[in-house]
Order: sequence, then C-alpha cells, then structure tokens
Amino acid sequence: MEIPDELKTLNREIKDKIAGRKSPRRIWVTSLSFCLRKAALSIYLGTSKYERTGDMLLGTLLHKWVQENVEVGDIEFEVPLEYKISDGWILVGRADAILGDKILEFKLKGFNQENGPGSLKEMEEPSWTWKEQLNAYLTMAGLEEGYIYVFNRDGLDFKHFKVEKDKELFDKLLRRAWVVIRGVEELDQGKFPAWITPRRSDECDSCPFRPICAAIDKPWEKSR
Ligand code: SF4
Repeated sequence: MEIPDELKTLNREIKDKIAGRKSPRRIWVTSLSFCLRKAALSIYLGTSKYERTGDMLLGTLLHKWVQENVEVGDIEFEVPLEYKISDGWILVGRADAILGDKILEFKLKGFNQENGPGSLKEMEEPSWTWKEQLNAYLTMAGLEEGYIYVFNRDGLDFKHFKVEKDKELFDKLLRRAWVVIRGVEELDQGKFPAWITPRRSDECDSCPFRPICAAIDKPWEKSR
C-alpha cells in the first residue's frame, strides 16, 4: 500500500518520539568529509559529542583566542547555520566567524616536508576538506565569499585563502548527506549499512566505531 507523504512524516515523527530522538535529525557538515558509515553510526548512536579529537580541541582554542583578542566591527563568532535537506533531516554547521558578508574559518596546521608543504609560506592552497566545508557554510548562509585563515601551529603566523561559493560542490556534499540518511534509516530498521565504505582505510585506525566494523566486515583490510 502506498503511504501518502503526510502520513510518512507523521509516522516518522511518532517513531522519533518513541525512540527519544530529536526531530529533525541533524547531519554535521564536518562529518561529511570523512567516512559516511561513521557519520551514520554517530547519528544513530547519538555519540557525536564524544568524538572530539585533540586537533578539534586545539581548533576550538584557536577560535576562542581570535574571538577574545580581535576586535573589528560587524563580526560575529561561532554562527550556527542550518539547511533543510528534507522533512526530518537538516544539515547543520557552525561558521567560525562572519565579518560583514564574508565567512571566515580559522584553521590550525602543523607543517612537515614529508606530508604536504613544509611551511606556511610554501602552502599554495588550503585543504580540499576545508574548502568543501566553507563552501557548505556559504550556501547555508546565503553568502558568496569566504576566507580560510590558516595559522601555523608552531608560531601563530597566518595566511588566508579566498573561497567562492560553488553550487556543484555543495550538490556533491548533499549527495553524501543522502548516503548518510539511507545508512541511518537502515540502522533504524536493524540493518547494518556495510555498503558504505570509508574513503581512506587509515580513517579506521582511530575511529571509535572500529570494534563494530571489526565484528562485521573489517573494511580497512579490503581497501588496503
Ligand atoms: S571503522 Fe572505518 S569503516 Fe567503520 S565507521 Fe570507522 S572509519 Fe568507517
């Protein structure tokens, strides 16, 4: 029997309330740059707040430092952003700062000749992941241009890179959000989304869900 859309929404709301879940469910922009199975498990198990890494904590300290020490007019820090994906699902994120009509992201980076540019001076572009995330924030905020400020972890020297809104790039991110949604819906139904595989096998090394994946399919062994 085909269920009308209104009833599908009502049924989902009832199920979310019974399971004690927040509705709409939220997908963090940052989670879409990594293993999408991990993003799905994190939403299903409600564990995202326990998954902060040392680098993320250092990043938070940098944001706080800028916030407390830099005074320029018309700047807002830690700006929450949302984008409705569908009934029941929203994409969420937090821009580090919005100055006038420009979004600013502050990143801390260590430099090492063996792994990318050896110094801040030699860095010609910000990482793809950072661009993808800032691009999502631009779309969510309805703005056109942003800057990624990269701070050298060893000296707090900095450099900035311009990013312009790119609709195609955002559409690709949304397609990954739909993979996560399908994965969570399968988990809700008691199925494991083994068809979602990590982008890089080394992501699994420090993943909190490794014991779960180890019991099911050890994806890191297949992709090596
Ligand atoms: S262990 Fe690997 S495949 Fe499993 S959720 Fe983590 S990163 Fe993804």
